Order: sequence, then C-alpha cells, then structure tokens
Amino acid sequence: MAPIHIPAGTGRAVTLRAGQTLRIVNVEGGQVADFIAYNAADMNEALSTIHTLVSIGRLFPTTGDALRTNRRRKMVEITRDDTGRHDMLIAACDPWRYEYDFGVTGHRSCSDNFLEALREWRLERHQLPHPINFFQNMRYPDGRVEFDRSLAKPGDAVELRALMDLVAAVSACPMDLNPISNFRTHDLTIEVV
Ligand SMILES: [Zn+2]
Repeated sequence: MAPIHIPAGTGRAVTLRAGQTLRIVNVEGGQVADFIAYNAADMNEALSTIHTLVSIGRLFPTTGDALRTNRRRKMVEITRDDTGRHDMLIAACDPWRYEYDFGVTGHRSCSDNFLEALREWRLERHQLPHPINFFQNMRYPDGRVEFDRSLAKPGDAVELRALMDLVAAVSACPMDLNPISNFRTHDLTIEVV
C-alpha cells in the first residue's frame, strides 16, 4: 500500500494481517511517535507496555523484542530500529496533561488523536492502552524522570512485524511544550510492507 502521511500533531489507524510489517518513518527526525495496537479479533486484548517490559527485561525496547499484550501474548516484533531509544513508561499526552501541567487548553493530544483515528471502532478513552512511545528519549537516573530530545535522525524508521491480525494507530505526538520532539511537531509516514 502507499505510505500514509501523518501530518504533525495528528494520528492515523491501520489494520495489519499477521506477517505484515508496519514501518513508521521519522521523516524530518526528532519526532515522537506514540503507538498502540489491538488484537483485531478481540479489541479487549491490546498492547501492554508493563507486560512487555517484564518479558524483555529492559525499559527500552529494540530490534528482536516482541511487544506483548495484556494477555502476555506476543503481538508485534521489532524488526528494524534505526534510532535505538524508545520509551514504554510515559503516558500518552491528553487534554489534562496540557491543561494541568502547562496551563494550555484546546491543545491537540495523542489521546484525542487515537480516538479520532479509531473512530470507526467506537472506543472510549479508557479503552486506549498505554502506548509505546517510539523515538522518545527518556532517562531515569536514580529513579528520576527526565525528558530528553529525541535521538531520531531524518528518515529513521522502526519496523514492526505483526504476529497476529491487528488494529494499530500511530500519533505524531503534538507535545511542543517540552524537549521530547525538540519543542515542535513534525510529520511522520507509516506504511504497511
Ligand atoms: Zn503525545
């Protein structure tokens, strides 16, 4: 299929058959891409970062790691990782993140992007799983939570091979008020290959 353009600050959904690969391209570099996925046959089974970190034994997933569901099944395998630093702990941004932490109302958010992109599946916000934040460069020295600039270079990609039929969504994170995407937002493309 042709690549899908994700304008800065928005999200898109795709469906994948088991065995297909989703490529997420950091067109300009420096952009965080929040990713969630559901078992297409049962939307109650979804990506689970906290089950994934138990199974891979690290906070930062990379090539060869299988991302798990809330039923601990292998959902996707990372088969390409050009950047080498992604995050699994930070919640998707939502309207309250901008309002309570930055005093900004009406800001776009990954949570809203997912609900928009997945509109035809009629999900409620509480049904959104916690995302994997591809290209997000977090550091946790001595347990502190530090937001650093994305290490993604222009054209960097991650590829995810589906291990079950999936409904997946990607958000070009609208956060422009902290360093994660260098205080601005950038476009992404996604492609099923
Ligand atoms: Zn976000």
